Amino acid sequence: MTDRRAIAIAGVGKIARDQHIPTIAADPNFRLAGTVSRHSTFDGVPAFTSLADLRTALPDVAAIAICTPPRGRLTLVREALALGLDVMLEKPPAATMSEAEALVAAAAASGSVLHVTWHSREAAAVEPARAWLAERTVRRVAVNWKEDVRVWHPGQEWIWEPGIGVFDPGINALSVVTRLLDGDLLLDRATLRFPANKAAPIAADLSLTGAEGVPIAVAFDFDQRGPQSWDIIVETDRGTLMLSHGASKMAVDGMAIDVPDTPEYARLYQRFAELIATRQSDTDLAPFRLVADAFLLGERETVGLFDWNG
Ligand code: NAP
Repeated sequence: MTDRRAIAIAGVGKIARDQHIPTIAADPNFRLAGTVSRHSTFDGVPAFTSLADLRTALPDVAAIAICTPPRGRLTLVREALALGLDVMLEKPPAATMSEAEALVAAAAASGSVLHVTWHSREAAAVEPARAWLAERTVRRVAVNWKEDVRVWHPGQEWIWEPGIGVFDPGINALSVVTRLLDGDLLLDRATLRFPANKAAPIAADLSLTGAEGVPIAVAFDFDQRGPQSWDIIVETDRGTLMLSHGASKMAVDGMAIDVPDTPEYARLYQRFAELIATRQSDTDLAPFRLVADAFLLGERETVGLFDWNG
């Protein structure tokens, strides 16, 4: 245990508890040394309410995983960089594109590593699918990313603040599609649906164009009851690829293809360890740029009231 790098977590909430804390516990490269959160703590782990206090008490902490909501990330990242910490950032990287670009620039100007993570890109079928697609010509892509906000973000009011809404899960799909397809994707049209009582969209349809004019139709919904769907379908000149269950499963023309079963967050931490070892940053903002474009270009529709208990 002693040669594991001491890491801290900022923002002890759902994703910290569901993924980061158990993943670090099983990771050969890291040990959880402390947390920084305004109210929450995790049993048995030293808890602080500021990064500066954590660093003073635990000077061996060399890295931090930031798991707070997107708003306010720039302040936290700047603070972490000033303390010389390497930084892993939960998706989405920030609340605005300017803020995301500023934190990438701040990291580049520091001696620290910044890992802007996209956990869905680490899903088991993404790299096998990318390899399969490399030998084919893509004809069209369809994305259906539909989940119930009540299940995945129970009571989280920050999700309805002006901004992210359904793009919080939707950006996961965009992170996979931008990895699968070479070249920039361009947003042509978007429709964003806002509940009458909320400042963020609960559903969105996007039309994008990939390289060589490939049409990409995207449907996001945050009000999906019953079975959830996180599917990406890619028609090619030689077969149709289906990624399902958040790109953890892969099928070609209806036949399942075996893929490795390493969990997303285990791969994320492995990648962070590699970036630290080589002193490189990974700061791709492409999925976030598409979300910003959707807000720039999107037509807005008002839909029924949202109710957490509805
Ligand atoms: P969450 O349950 O609300 O937890 C975030 C924690 O951050 C809170 O418990 C809070 O702890 C702290 N925090 C600091 N500033 C805050 C603020 N202004 N408003 C609210 N909380 C604040 O959220 P989460 O689901 O863990 O999501 C956090 C990040 O992880 C988001 O960017 C999200 O997209 C990403 N993520 C979430 C999931 C998921 O399934 N929920 C999956 C993958 C990624 P204190 O009150 O103690 O400060």
